[in-house]
Amino acid sequence: MEWTQEFLDSFKNFCEKEIKPYAEDWDQNGSLPKEIFPALANIGYFGLLAPEEYGGSNLGVLAGVKSMELLSEYCGSTFFSASASFGLFGEPLRLFGTEAQKQKYYVPVLEGKKIGCMGITEPQSGSDVSAITTTAKQNNDGTILLNGQKTYITNSSIADYAIILARFVNSEGEDKGLTHFVLELDKPGISRGKPMKKLGLRASVTGELFFEQANIGSSESILGGIGKGFRQTMMTFNEERLSIAAYCVGVLNACLREASSFARTRKSFGSPIYQHQAVSGMLAELYTKLESVKSFTYRVATEMEEDQKKARKDRDPELGAKCSALKLFASVQAREGANLAVQIHGGAGFMEEYKVSRLYRDIRLAEIGGGTSEIQKSIITSSLMKWKL
Ligand SMILES: Cc1cc2nc3c(=O)[nH]c(=O)nc-3n(C[C@H](O)[C@H](O)[C@H](O)COP(=O)(O)OP(=O)(O)OC[C@H]3O[C@@H](n4cnc5c(N)ncnc54)[C@H](O)[C@@H]3O)c2cc1C
Repeated sequence: MEWTQEFLDSFKNFCEKEIKPYAEDWDQNGSLPKEIFPALANIGYFGLLAPEEYGGSNLGVLAGVKSMELLSEYCGSTFFSASASFGLFGEPLRLFGTEAQKQKYYVPVLEGKKIGCMGITEPQSGSDVSAITTTAKQNNDGTILLNGQKTYITNSSIADYAIILARFVNSEGEDKGLTHFVLELDKPGISRGKPMKKLGLRASVTGELFFEQANIGSSESILGGIGKGFRQTMMTFNEERLSIAAYCVGVLNACLREASSFARTRKSFGSPIYQHQAVSGMLAELYTKLESVKSFTYRVATEMEEDQKKARKDRDPELGAKCSALKLFASVQAREGANLAVQIHGGAGFMEEYKVSRLYRDIRLAEIGGGTSEIQKSIITSSLMKWKL
């Protein structure tokens, strides 16, 4: 516990010095400096959930959430690109990887020496993961050839490694189902599109990956078993949704800080604007959103931490629904909170010079990434029908 607080204090200092002064420029330039990955690794951020034998500190889910919240206060783009590398790419390796895969891919990513990404989404398959058409065809000599296209992939143009979800087709031509493959991206047959121009999170690059008869080796590239990809994706979604809620807490914190400091100094009709009832009401609403999202997030994080200590058969069947409900709630509250923060700023809130305009653009992703709000609702109701009603 003491150790956790010590880490959070030093991480806050790090964010103040290494992120805060540059976040605006990174957003304007549309990219992050690559050095931010080893810097985050060295301070211990990447290793929070990782076992000690791989260089992690294994401080637990709640400590992880509080650190993500801190980083998100300063720079959403850094949060998403870092999460795509040590989380979306790293966590499936930790959970399903062989020792050789962990040594080759997981350790360098945790050290920040390499960058990872996760490729699930395709032009015709986003919410409907089962509609994926990228194929991984095994030849008679065992080699696997990847063909297809991925899109909206975070870190696409800067990543060294990827986990790709594709249909495994065996040498007899039989479709054996969705399977994860872990691979190096700088290989013949693999190319990348230009970073896409986006509404927000502009410094976190997003784009396409193309595979044309790309030889990705043989069975050593299969992650956790043939045909297990869909289930693995669903298992790692819980952590991703919790992390997006942590991002929402960070954004709400930043919105409240920016809005209250502006409301104290900006005057209209002879008094600071916070003294006008309507503005004080908006600040109170913002505070209420922050506190409610924070409590819900910490509660689910604590439950997940406890759940992970249990044998698989004793785990909470409702945890998936709770993570979905949390993401659904947190992302709406944070988007509404960012809207209030802009409103409190008046015209200044529309100007790039003020941080709230970036927070407002960035937060929109929270209702889309990691499964849209509509998909969260359908997960919650299916779970209710199965476990509660
Ligand atoms: C900035 C950014 C970064 C991303 N990073 C990654 C990444 O690193 N890796 C990756 O694999 N993907 C990534 N994605 C993709 C993201 O996960 C998808 O955009 C998201 O899952 C939605 O899929 P879609 O865009 O195809 O929308 P669609 O599935 O086409 O949905 C369009 C609309 O229809 C609704 N809808 C669809 N099906 C249903 C249904 N059954 N019931 C009710 N409503 C429905 C949706 O809610 C939405 O409103 C990223 C996206 C963005 C914007």
